[in-house]
Amino acid sequence: MSSGRSRRGGAAWDAVVVGAGPNGLAAAVTLARAGLHVRVYERDERPGGGAATRELTLPGFLSDVCSAIHPLAFESRFFREFGLQNRVRFATPDISFGHPLDGGRAGIAYRDLERTSAGLGPDGPAYARLMRPLVERAAEIAEFTGSSLLRVPRDPLTAIALGVSSLEQGTLAWNARFREEVAPALLTGVAAHTILPQPSIAAAGAGLALGAYAHARGWPIPVGGSQAIVDAMVEDLRAHGGEVVTGHDVRSLEELPSARVILLDVTPRAFLRMAASRMPPLYRRALQRFRYGGGVAKVDFALSDPVPWANGELRAAGTVHVGGTRAEIADAENQVNRGRLPDRPYVLAAQQSLFDSTRAPAGRHTLWAYTHVPAGSPQDRREAVIGQIERFAPGFRDTILATSSRTAVQVQAHNPNYVGGDIAAGAPSLAQLIRRPVLRSDPWRTPVHGVYLASASVAPGPGVHGLGGWHAALSALRHEFGTRALPDLSPRDGQIIDPRPSTREEPS
Ligand SMILES: Cc1cc2nc3c(=O)[nH]c(=O)nc-3n(C[C@H](O)[C@H](O)[C@H](O)COP(=O)(O)OP(=O)(O)OC[C@H]3O[C@@H](n4cnc5c(N)ncnc54)[C@H](O)[C@@H]3O)c2cc1C
Repeated sequence: MSSGRSRRGGAAWDAVVVGAGPNGLAAAVTLARAGLHVRVYERDERPGGGAATRELTLPGFLSDVCSAIHPLAFESRFFREFGLQNRVRFATPDISFGHPLDGGRAGIAYRDLERTSAGLGPDGPAYARLMRPLVERAAEIAEFTGSSLLRVPRDPLTAIALGVSSLEQGTLAWNARFREEVAPALLTGVAAHTILPQPSIAAAGAGLALGAYAHARGWPIPVGGSQAIVDAMVEDLRAHGGEVVTGHDVRSLEELPSARVILLDVTPRAFLRMAASRMPPLYRRALQRFRYGGGVAKVDFALSDPVPWANGELRAAGTVHVGGTRAEIADAENQVNRGRLPDRPYVLAAQQSLFDSTRAPAGRHTLWAYTHVPAGSPQDRREAVIGQIERFAPGFRDTILATSSRTAVQVQAHNPNYVGGDIAAGAPSLAQLIRRPVLRSDPWRTPVHGVYLASASVAPGPGVHGLGGWHAALSALRHEFGTRALPDLSPRDGQIIDPRPSTREEPS
């Protein structure tokens, strides 16, 4: 594409993006790299959205406000194009995740399937048989799940492998291959990231994909915090002529400056508020039917020492899934899905400071944790989270220097994309993974002229991967600017570069 400035046709900007989360910034970077003149509006005082890092507890202790663990940092097609690994330093623990059980037992998911299965006793071979076809296809799974599921998969065998194992692990047949408690708990701990009923096919599919990444290339932790990922995108955007305006909450499309295209890193609910009258009735109704899921309550800790897990191996795990056996976690998650607060909840914890010394003053530590709650819950879950960790790490309470707790209501107040505390910006049920947010093979393009949806509410869904924004930007380039070429996103020295037409194919 020639210089974007020549193609504006009287508009102030080629492209305006609303929201500077990972998806909004991925869209902005892609468009700027195509030579377009791009401005981003962000309501917060700093770009980052769900990848922000702040001092939440005490000075010198850096907590990830939302996302902490980045299984897709190495697997997302957008991040690979962007060369994220060349721009941000990552620490990748040998133990991707661990799962304590009573009596000092634990399941350990190494970045190595054979080592993992060797630690699972009699269930090791069954676990390896389940996971091996997926681990071997981890990159293909990321490709398949990284776009709209309505598109024909490039590699049908991968789709079949994931589908068959999800059918097994997502139904009441899920225990059939196992004899003991540890391997099933390990699988449920990762499937429960979804805040869906257990067992369910969508939860199993997401869990198995995350498990495959855990054993294949690990779950990386960005040095300096998740903010490092979005800072790299902002830097690239600015180096290519883009601007970010912070502290601006966009209420309506009418208040934006004129632009050839508008990309929205917001939910369908916010899009309705901004432009319902410009939508055809069928599309408007489809967005009104979009469902938001259960919420989270977040608790961050400043610690005097690492968490004293009873099982010593957990002291070297990046992530720890706390909640006990498969049956206990399923019960807790199903209570949340019925609108109740479980006494012994599922807790997702990350121990970034064990791998990244920038997170806390020398010798001190951070712990990032959240637990699931019914949508819109105003309950402070600090004590429930501490109680569950203490159950598997006696003495934990004595290591706490300070906490910062956020209810589901406060999670939404901080970022309206998390409706009712739903960190997925829309329930990731099977129906809503296929119809996200509408049943179209190009769900990013909306019937409102020149407007594209770019958030986690659109395919491929939640997570820090930038793919919603990248696909939305590619769709906008195709439909509004007549280019099918993939902009080169790779890191380069110097300032604004002349985008060169690429001969590489766009993803189908
Ligand atoms: C507690 C928590 C833990 C999580 N853990 C993980 C994890 O470990 N790993 C992972 O991969 N994912 C995790 N996630 C999910 C992940 O953060 C999101 O899926 C991801 O950030 C979505 O990116 P996005 O750009 O679509 O939206 P967001 O990151 O939510 O960004 C949207 C941006 O738009 C801005 N905005 C919204 N409305 C407006 C408006 N009207 N005007 C201007 N600006 C607006 C918001 O302020 C925000 O900056 C977590 C989320 C939460 C909340």
